[in-house]
Amino acid sequence: MPATTLRVATGKPIEFINITQRIKRIVQESGIQEGICTIYVPHTTCGITINEAADPDVERDILKELGKIVPLHDEYLHAEGNSAAHIKTSLMGSNSSIPISDGRLLLGTWQGIFLCEFDGPRNRKVYVQIQ
Ligand code: ZN
Repeated sequence: MPATTLRVATGKPIEFINITQRIKRIVQESGIQEGICTIYVPHTTCGITINEAADPDVERDILKELGKIVPLHDEYLHAEGNSAAHIKTSLMGSNSSIPISDGRLLLGTWQGIFLCEFDGPRNRKVYVQIQ
């Protein structure tokens, strides 16, 4: 089936946005019972990750530590001035795949799917392909 496009307007320079419920709805509406759901962002300063969605402090800790690993300014060569956002995006990755069984995503109890904005605010696209 064709990919579904989700549009996400981010509101901050750096943030995680929980898109789990929107992805679950696409899976339900597809009617697919057994398969795989691929979530992909076509951007270079915005990624996708799966991690704990129950305690928002986990998101904050991840963002804080990414900020230590990848300083905002570090004599980067890229003239646009947003190398830190590019590097963090590569660390998080641009896609995730989740198995579907009995019509449901096989996410763990505490897991959520997050769009990772590193150079916002911007209008982002997320492609969701169910096979
Ligand atoms: Zn750039």
